[in-house]
Amino acid sequence: MRELARRELDEIEESVPRASSPAVRLDCNESPFDLPPALKELALRRIRELSFNRYPEAAALAVRDQIALGAGVTPGQVVLGNGLDEVILMILLAFGTGKRSVIPVPSFSGYRISSILAGADVVGVPLTPWLDIDLDRIIEEARREPGLVFLCSPHNPTGRLAPAGAVEILLRDTKSLIVVDEAYGDFSGTTCLPLVEKHDRLVVLRTFSKALGLAGIRLGYAVAGRETASWLSRARQPYNVSSLSLAVAGVVLGNTGFVHETVSRVVSERERLFQALMAVPGVVPFPSSANFILFRTPRPAWEVDEGLRRRGVAVRVFPGERSLSGCLRVTVGTPAEDDAFLDALGRLMVNEDQRAIIGGGCHA
Ligand code: PMP
Repeated sequence: MRELARRELDEIEESVPRASSPAVRLDCNESPFDLPPALKELALRRIRELSFNRYPEAAALAVRDQIALGAGVTPGQVVLGNGLDEVILMILLAFGTGKRSVIPVPSFSGYRISSILAGADVVGVPLTPWLDIDLDRIIEEARREPGLVFLCSPHNPTGRLAPAGAVEILLRDTKSLIVVDEAYGDFSGTTCLPLVEKHDRLVVLRTFSKALGLAGIRLGYAVAGRETASWLSRARQPYNVSSLSLAVAGVVLGNTGFVHETVSRVVSERERLFQALMAVPGVVPFPSSANFILFRTPRPAWEVDEGLRRRGVAVRVFPGERSLSGCLRVTVGTPAEDDAFLDALGRLMVNEDQRAIIGGGCHA
C-alpha cells in the first residue's frame, strides 16, 4: 500500500485515539462550560425544525451575516469551515501549494500538517530561547519568496501574545499572506480584525471551539478582505458546515451574553491556577493570555504526563520538541478540575513512584 500513498504522508503521524479517557480532560484547550441550558434547549428546537433530508444552506448566509455584524465586516469577507482545522487547510489549498509556509516552531500542529497536505514547503522558525516569536527570522524567511506566514496570538502552546505591531510589521516588510490565528483571542481581549479593511494580505482566524464552548459543533471562520475571501472560498467544499452546526451557531450568535461570563471565569481561574502552579515545588509556569498554561517541571514531561494520567488527569505533552523539554500544557478547567490536577501534580513533584498507563489523546 505504501507505494500508492503520497510520499509526504511519511511526515505526518497517524492520529490514534488512546484506549481510555481520563476523568479530568485538560489537554485540548476546550471550555469547561457547556452551553447554558436555555440556549441548548433553543438550539435543539431549531435542530428539530430542520429537514434532515436537505443539504445545508450552501452559502450559510444567515450565520455569516451574524458573524460579519460582530466583526464589523461584510458577509462576503467571512469564510466558514468545519472548525479552524478545515479553514487552515482551505487557506493552504488556496494559497500554499508550491509556496513557502513559514511557521513558528513549536506552534499549533495544524499549520504544519495542512501545509504538508497541500504540498506547501514548510519553513519552521524556532521560538526564541525565551519562547517568544522570532519576528526578525520570520521576516527573513518570508522575504526569500512570498508565500504564507502563520502567527498565532495568543500563541499555542506558550499562551503569549505576538509582540506589539508584529502583524503590521509583517504586512509592511514582506509580500506574503499573513494568517493570524486568534483561536484564543477572546481570552486576551486583543484582535487584529480592524486591520483587515486596510490589508488584502491579512487573514484573521476565529473559532467557536474555545470561549464559545462549542468545540463539538466544529465551526471556525476566516475574516479577510473581500477579494482574499473570494479566493479562499474557492477552496471550500460546497456543504462543508452541517445544518446542525449552523442551527446551533445561529442561536449562540443571537445570544452571546454568556461568553463574557465564561471569559471572566476562565481568566480569573487562570490567574488562580498560575499562582497555585508557582507554589508547586520545582514547577515554573509561563504567564498566559489564553485558556491554558504552559509549565516546566524538573522531571521528564512524559513521566509527569503518565503520573497525571494514572491519577485521572489528561494534560498535553510535546514529545520530540526540544525547546519544550520538561514542559506540559494544562487547560484552565473548572476550579474542581484544576484542584484535581494540582493535587495530582503536587503529589508527583514530591516524587511518588511512577507506573505507565494508557489514556485519551488530543491533537489540539
Ligand atoms: N488554532 C489553534 C491555535 C488551536 O489551538 C486549535 C485547536 N486547539 C485550532 C486552531 C483548531 O480549532 P478548531 O477547533 O476550530 O478546529
